[in-house]
Amino acid sequence: MRYFILFGPPGAGKGTHAGAIGRKYNMKHISTGELLRAEIAAGTELGKHAQELISAGSLVPDEVVEGMIENAFDTIKGYDGFLLDGFPRTLGQAKDLDRILAKRGEKVDAVISIMIPDDIVRERIRHRATVEGRADDASESTITNRINTYHTRTEPLIQFYKEAGNYYEADGYPGTIEQNQKRILDMISEKIGD
Ligand code: AMP
Repeated sequence: MRYFILFGPPGAGKGTHAGAIGRKYNMKHISTGELLRAEIAAGTELGKHAQELISAGSLVPDEVVEGMIENAFDTIKGYDGFLLDGFPRTLGQAKDLDRILAKRGEKVDAVISIMIPDDIVRERIRHRATVEGRADDASESTITNRINTYHTRTEPLIQFYKEAGNYYEADGYPGTIEQNQKRILDMISEKIGD
């Protein structure tokens, strides 16, 4: 099995490009944000606890998302790997992921990082709010908190994975969705193979 991490700030295009990457490499796309929104929609206890943190633009506790990830690894069959989107988001999650995979005799094969500047993050999230209607896209203070949370909690992972030697970066801006997707797929194919 192969394990790729799709990395980048909110609005970088991780969800947008995950489908094409997943199809090409027969990998299952797992977005912890989508899994959490499904829990909220279903009105589960987990969803109720997560809702407030998500709508404030804060992170949910590491053990919550790690439980969802382990559950996905245990139950989803029929793919050559997993494409993790929005996880890990803290150094603790990254280290725990290494432990979770080591128990299975597996490892993170590649971190595919999509980079865009903060002003484009804001622009994209404001646009997405009109299309998808996500609660955490709707207010400026939530967007600001998500950008700050990305810089303080998530960005340190870049150094962590650079040191691990499996960090690969592509620009997610400028260009159309198609142009960005081609740039990202070409980068993966050059660095990791087809
Ligand atoms: P996303 O759809 O990836 O933008 O995630 C939406 C929200 O879900 C985030 O702003 C967090 O509140 C929460 N979330 C998603 N993934 C994680 C994670 N790995 N760790 C903590 N919180 C997360």
